[in-house]
Amino acid sequence: MNIEDIIVYTCPKYKREMDAFYAAYELEVYLESPVAKIKHKPQKDRQCRFCGKKYPETRFAREAHLIPEFMGNKYLTSDSECDACNQKFSRYENDFKYYLGIIPSLTKTPAKGNKVPKFKAPRNELVAGITDKVEGGFVEILKGEHGDAIKVDYDNGVTRIEFRKHSYIPFNVYKAFLKMGLAALPKDEIMHYSNALSVLAYDEKMPNAIASVHVTNFPFSKRAQEPFLYVFKKRKHTDAIPAHVVILHYQNLIFQFFIPFYKFDGHVYKDMLRMPVCPPMFSEKVGDEFDPSFGIEDFTGLELKRNERQYITYNFDFPKGNLMKYDPVTGESWPVDTVPKDDLLGMILLPDGTTISLKENKKDHNTDQHE
Ligand SMILES: [Zn+2]
Repeated sequence: MNIEDIIVYTCPKYKREMDAFYAAYELEVYLESPVAKIKHKPQKDRQCRFCGKKYPETRFAREAHLIPEFMGNKYLTSDSECDACNQKFSRYENDFKYYLGIIPSLTKTPAKGNKVPKFKAPRNELVAGITDKVEGGFVEILKGEHGDAIKVDYDNGVTRIEFRKHSYIPFNVYKAFLKMGLAALPKDEIMHYSNALSVLAYDEKMPNAIASVHVTNFPFSKRAQEPFLYVFKKRKHTDAIPAHVVILHYQNLIFQFFIPFYKFDGHVYKDMLRMPVCPPMFSEKVGDEFDPSFGIEDFTGLELKRNERQYITYNFDFPKGNLMKYDPVTGESWPVDTVPKDDLLGMILLPDGTTISLKENKKDHNTDQHE
């Protein structure tokens, strides 16, 4: 696809911000997972863009995913990432996965082997994954033996899920982002980023503004099925803004960050660093019906972040009739008049209006629950 052919839309309410962003930046790279494996050049002709080594000084036997495989990227791979660098980056990607917590499981992101991962919160607070209780590949969230991870407000129809994430190092998460940006850059730009490459290679304290990522959070109903990535380059090299801005769409999340220390951007770092924010982009026309939330995540920390909490909130009305109670231990189900409030063990997330039949007794069961 030619870069000129890529047309993006935003909500009418963000048009002014979009125009301002496009006045400062132009799209340089667009990447999405292709439908089949990319045929790369042979190992002997390759050079790693991260460590600079060539074959046979280093090897290129592993598949190096440009966007992590756990984010649903099957075939978008790089020919310029050696095995040694790939191994190092996999640690960063693992911390990135821990930062995302339950999201890959809730959004049914297919990872290696097309499998949706099971999420197990630490200390057995909660488990999420594809249910085997009903057909259809729906997600279930089950309370663990300990804790009280699922709280239901029956009167207001709000369910709040709260638990701890696995520990991760924030700066490693930042490096996972930075690696994606550097991997996506055109080959002739990478030579201007030697300082960014050394950020990736070493653990150095960074000013907050650099290891910060702008995050846009959508409801799960508005999400990208497959991850994709944009690299924008500033139009005027004299502008006091970062040269390259990277935008990554993953499910209901949009991450925006810049690649730091462009060789010709010395003047940018003397002033206050300012990254113009691009409003949410869509591949088709959209209205103003979405209300995403925006925030800045600071990934400066080099210490392990422990016990960070994650919250997910669902709004739905509990069905008034046609209720079934299901016992996952015995597999029995039977009709009840009201929602059983005290012995909720978990929930299965169904698209609006889905009808399911409980496996064990094959009785039809209507539900109004939806995502
Ligand atoms: Zn390398």
